Amino acid sequence: MTPEGPASPPGRRGRDPVDVADLVARARDGEARAVARLISLVEDAGPALPEVAAALAPHGGRAQVVGLTGAPGVGKSTTTTALVGVLRGRGLRVGVLAVDPSSPFSGGALLGDRVRMQDHAGDDGVYIRSMATRGHLGGLAWATPQALRVLDVAGCDVVLVETVGVGQSELEVASLADTTLVLLAPGMGDGIQAAKAGILEVADVLVVNKADREGADRTVRDLRSALALGGRHEAPGAWCPPVVRTVATAGTGVEDLARALAEHRAWLASSGEGDRRRAARAAREIEAVALTGLRERMGQVRGSAALGALAAQVVAGRTDPFRAAALLLDQL
Ligand code: GDP
Repeated sequence: MTPEGPASPPGRRGRDPVDVADLVARARDGEARAVARLISLVEDAGPALPEVAAALAPHGGRAQVVGLTGAPGVGKSTTTTALVGVLRGRGLRVGVLAVDPSSPFSGGALLGDRVRMQDHAGDDGVYIRSMATRGHLGGLAWATPQALRVLDVAGCDVVLVETVGVGQSELEVASLADTTLVLLAPGMGDGIQAAKAGILEVADVLVVNKADREGADRTVRDLRSALALGGRHEAPGAWCPPVVRTVATAGTGVEDLARALAEHRAWLASSGEGDRRRAARAAREIEAVALTGLRERMGQVRGSAALGALAAQVVAGRTDPFRAAALLLDQL
């Protein structure tokens, strides 16, 4: 990842003007540097972002976005690496986006330290990228979908999204994905706990990783009964989340996992659920961008004469804060 340099005038860098159309064309040809640069532009949320979003919009729509969620240490990273290997073996292009909501540092550095980077280094069918979202206005809500779009436009068949670090963003990641994998490990939270945490609701595929450890059978059983109790899968044609056992470190069960992903992808297409999820995601994205814009405008209003006048009227009892706020929103 190259540094983006100092603050630049709108739409251009200090040294080079950003030719967004050219970058997108190169990314579509699969040029890794162009992909990296586009993701940086998205992440920086700079003035070029609307242009980048507009240039990306007509392309893509092909990738299956797979979110991996689960407690730290459950094996998300290891599973991601193993899955990349299996998917590459099937000739698929794969993107990996590791989102770290707890870190303000971005780029390749975070993941560069991780062993898994070595596994797929030099393979031009894999894009691996980490993204720090702390301190972003809207954070995950819109930086991540745009980065996913870049990977989609670059021709990825599957994009794996994983959260690293600590965060309550597990459910948020699920909301970005076409397919959500929920990982559990024996003794690290059984099915009942999972049900309590609400993660069974978002799971499309359940993974019991570390199946080499004692208690895996029990975790699988607990999950199956928790799923049956939930009853959300009884409708005709409904998706029933499979429970897949894996030993990610040994690659055991990872073929089964890849098969479950492909089956879910086929179901998304045949049931219409894929379109429904995409529409819901686009609506949330628009909302997040609009809210950011609204916040910016509110920032401009703060300390303004107009707001001062409204405040004076509230103090004088001529109006109330609710009416004053409605007036203010109308003016925005
Ligand atoms: P993450 O925090 O969810 O990304 O978890 P990691 O992938 O970093 O894995 C945490 C630890 O568990 C590492 O030391 C892995 O080597 C180990 N681990 C991952 N999968 C397995 C597995 O299937 N069996 C065993 N015994 N250890 C595993």
